[in-house]
Amino acid sequence: MPRQLTVQGSTARRRIIVHVDVILTAPALTLDEALECARNVFGITAAGSVLPSERDQNVLLEADNDRRRFVLKIANASEKRELLDAQNDALAYVARRTPLCPRAVSARDGSTIAEFVARTGVRHYVRVLTWLPGLPLGAVADQSTDLLEDVGRAVAELDAALDGFDHPAIHRDFHWDLAKGISIVEELAPLVDDPEMRALVTRAAAAIATRDGARFERLRRAAVHNDPNDYNILVDDRRVTGILDFGDIVHSFAIADLAIATAYATLGKAEPLEAAVHVARGYQRVKALDEDELASLFGLVLLRLCASVCVAARQQKQRPDDPYLSISQQPIRETLPRLAALDPSRVEAALRAVRAPTPEETLSARRRVIGPNLSVAYRAPVKIVRGWMQYLYDGSGRRYLDAYNNVPHVGHSHPRVVRAGTDQMRLLNTNTRYLHDLLGQFGERLTATLPDPLRVCYFVNSGSEANELALRLARAHTGRRDVVVLDAAYHGNTSTLIDISPYKFNGPGGEGAAPWVHVLPLPDIYRGKYRRGDPRAGEKYAEFARQVRNPAAFIAESAPSVGGQIILPDRYLASVYAIVRAAGGVCIADEVQTAYGRMGTHFYAFEAQNVVPDIVVLGKPIGNGYPLGAVVTTREIAASFDNGMEFFSTFGGSTVSCAVGLAVLQVVQDERLQEHARQTGERLLERLRALQAVHPLMGDVRGSGLFLGVELVKDRSSLEPATEEAREIVNRLRDRAILLGTDGPFANVLKIRPPMPFSDDDGEHVASALDEVLAGL
Ligand code: PMP
Repeated sequence: MPRQLTVQGSTARRRIIVHVDVILTAPALTLDEALECARNVFGITAAGSVLPSERDQNVLLEADNDRRRFVLKIANASEKRELLDAQNDALAYVARRTPLCPRAVSARDGSTIAEFVARTGVRHYVRVLTWLPGLPLGAVADQSTDLLEDVGRAVAELDAALDGFDHPAIHRDFHWDLAKGISIVEELAPLVDDPEMRALVTRAAAAIATRDGARFERLRRAAVHNDPNDYNILVDDRRVTGILDFGDIVHSFAIADLAIATAYATLGKAEPLEAAVHVARGYQRVKALDEDELASLFGLVLLRLCASVCVAARQQKQRPDDPYLSISQQPIRETLPRLAALDPSRVEAALRAVRAPTPEETLSARRRVIGPNLSVAYRAPVKIVRGWMQYLYDGSGRRYLDAYNNVPHVGHSHPRVVRAGTDQMRLLNTNTRYLHDLLGQFGERLTATLPDPLRVCYFVNSGSEANELALRLARAHTGRRDVVVLDAAYHGNTSTLIDISPYKFNGPGGEGAAPWVHVLPLPDIYRGKYRRGDPRAGEKYAEFARQVRNPAAFIAESAPSVGGQIILPDRYLASVYAIVRAAGGVCIADEVQTAYGRMGTHFYAFEAQNVVPDIVVLGKPIGNGYPLGAVVTTREIAASFDNGMEFFSTFGGSTVSCAVGLAVLQVVQDERLQEHARQTGERLLERLRALQAVHPLMGDVRGSGLFLGVELVKDRSSLEPATEEAREIVNRLRDRAILLGTDGPFANVLKIRPPMPFSDDDGEHVASALDEVLAGL
């Protein structure tokens, strides 16, 4: 419909717009006659040319004296005077607030609407409007995001300029009034010849009536332009320069202009919803949309396109040999089915998000107030607004597969966890100085997952706090200070934990190892000193611990995650624990990343090593995102720590955290997530190993359950880390809506460590995307 050459002041779209059922032929003044009218009636001496138009006749005037341009508009003889009055009043009204629209030029007698009797004897109303420069939006093939946002901006500016305008003639019964859209489609749909299109518009209108009907009744009403289609919007390279044609002006839904501009902006777009979001965002920046308007917008966009199909069908019946009609409907016929097939709640979420700041705005707001060394993942930061199980959703409704975040262990926003937390928060949230049954219950349930003699719990708020406490316990118990750690380890963000984290103290900004910290080589059987083929690699790595005198504690992740998704060689922990204990130290298992069945084969990673630590540290997954940490130890160690000094953590063991902790444990068990991780992980590992045979970059594929790593190397014999490639892959996967991270001392290990509901399909999705990205590097 709007795919034709634009004519200022009267688009060719007029061909199929029906204001009255009987179409009178357009005025057909000769050019001389028109120029005479301009001269005699308006005092404009000009050269001119007739612009193509249908219902009215429009003539471009180029004034002789100052080259100013005008459009002479000779109205169809059937045109009602009141409506022309309303149009000119509206033009004058908006001109006070925006330069976007043409102005009406006064005739010699001072009026802006004059009468002119053509040589045919027919009397016409005539007007002259100023000419606006620009190209119709519909003629711009490549419509950028910025341009689409500017369309929204300009339409909002026009609506804002129209605010408060009224005229009796615009309260009219009009086919293009969206407020009557549903009944217009119902009435005219039978005239649509194509049975599929007929069924589609009928179904769509019925669905809109059901979903939006009641809401439509509540929508704000106002005077609206009612036809900012892409051939009535003029643009230069980057911006909207003008909006034409007030011929459809009506009193209707205040967001009708946005809905109509949006409807046409979706046509011919690869991603019509994204185009709609950009227009709506631009609009929202200038003119706030209320809840009902945001929720109704998509229904109105569809309704406008359905109405257009129906009105065009009637036109075709009236003028069957006009080829124009079907050609102009083509883009609607292509786009409407795609729009109608979208999930309305997804669309609503995407449109609602236009009220939120863009990712760029969010980033700069963050930079203004947040410390600069908080990093943001990915070249193109991801702005997430919602999570559900293993998926995250951005503001446009795009779904990302979360393939490496182990904090939402049982799934983002798991309803049972959410309910447990919110129910308890509504009731009571206080600290451990009062009696409450949940504290003991959580302690019971948690220790029941651990072997003897790990029977005493402390609850805190984070992995860091838990590790801090674990060190205090070890030091209180041994009376010593020194700590033995694994290379490349990270244990938390406090001063002491930075001191025991080689990943930090040997990294940028780090100050090296303190004298009381002893670093053992990472037992990495892929690139370390002892490798996979060595059956005694575990014992050999453990031997390094013998050099340490008088340790208070040995602390290690039972499967080093930060170190690069490492699976320890057999007997490593048993051997190192034996050596450390023989030297009088205690053994701390940092299970912050690995607990609660992630490894598939066992509930805790230390179990796969056949050891029982003296202290177990828990964090991230046990609260499923609620800040919760725990330390579980033996009665002896707890007794040593009970030296008279009270231990208190304000939030640790709070009523809500216990409720959440209990719910998470319950879900892990009820949903058999450990077994699920075992099976899903095994199949994914197999699939990745098959890929490894094809892609030389995949130097090592390792892991257990849903704790997997793919180590990338430039060369399989030198094992030179493919750090840049790893970063590139992660970014390209992000562009494909798969979120993975890198880890390891060289940041060359892809870590796959998703929320536990991660499925086989998700695994296949990751593997095939990785395959394609690797092939395209
Ligand atoms: N230990 C390990 C192994 C960790 O990975 C982390 C966090 N990445 C921590 C402790 C610290 O946990 P939090 O950030 O909750 O303080």
